[in-house]
Amino acid sequence: MNKRIAGKLLNCYQQLAEAAGLRLNEEEGTMYGTYGGYQMLVHPFVSGSRAYFYMLTVEIAAQARDSSLTKQDCKIYKKEHRNVSSLAQNQNLITMTLKSTSNQEKLRAVFLEELQNLTSYLRLKGYENCCQLCGKTGEDTSPCTISGFYAQLCSDCFQNVSQSAILAQQESRAAGENVIGGIVGALLGTLIGVVCIIILSQLGYVAALSGVVMAVCTLKGYEMLGRKLSKKGIIISCILMIVMTYAGDRLDWAIVVARELAWDVFTSYQAIPWLLQEFIIEPSVYWGNLAMVYVFLLLGAVPTIISTLKNKKIQGTITRID
Ligand SMILES: [Zn+2]
Repeated sequence: MNKRIAGKLLNCYQQLAEAAGLRLNEEEGTMYGTYGGYQMLVHPFVSGSRAYFYMLTVEIAAQARDSSLTKQDCKIYKKEHRNVSSLAQNQNLITMTLKSTSNQEKLRAVFLEELQNLTSYLRLKGYENCCQLCGKTGEDTSPCTISGFYAQLCSDCFQNVSQSAILAQQESRAAGENVIGGIVGALLGTLIGVVCIIILSQLGYVAALSGVVMAVCTLKGYEMLGRKLSKKGIIISCILMIVMTYAGDRLDWAIVVARELAWDVFTSYQAIPWLLQEFIIEPSVYWGNLAMVYVFLLLGAVPTIISTLKNKKIQGTITRID
């Protein structure tokens, strides 16, 4: 996940790892190793793009010969262990998340206690460590991240996944970008944005919100028809959305003018600079409104661009944690 940890948190994790006899990967902020006879991976709880550093998730790749944890089992377990916020089995992966505690001493005590409880419970149920992907038992697994997701794999699976990751990377590089397609996609996206500006504004809602729609639709439009969103694509999309936002906002005013003065929309659109000059449209209102839409455009564009660039970086990568 590349959530580099530092300072107080690093110190806290070092102590946690030491207490449990696990090793710490400072780069990833994850602990790994064997506890109670089970190989495991411990990392901050992740929801969406947020990591909760004082809410630990324990992952154990294991299976029992002829049973798996049912929802009912997990529910009962949770009820009996009040520090556990969730326990689940998904195929060969058992995941336990502990409730958040920022008190370091308490966190350590709870962590050790719940590791003890979980491993005893799994042993009682006849669970045996296995590869998360193929389920092979009796072999040590390597903790790793695949495209940003954690996994514990046997050596065969690790090799297979590494190979396909390399292939996927090569393919995506070879696929190339279709700039013309991207521009068409981005233009279609801006049209949705323009329609949104006009409809929202004519309905009397804050037109600024449509800036977010404009930004997201333009970038997604480029990505869909251009096959991928490169830096070039981002720049093209940004220029298009800035121009089209201006045009959309001006068209929105033109519709109002057309209605008020019984002109046609085209004439009204062309007359906007003159109407501003003559103070028939209050310039501060006009430009203020446009500035608002631009602010929201930025609000929509920045997170979309950041998440696109970030996803590209971790897409198709496999990293060993140990
Ligand atoms: Zn395997």
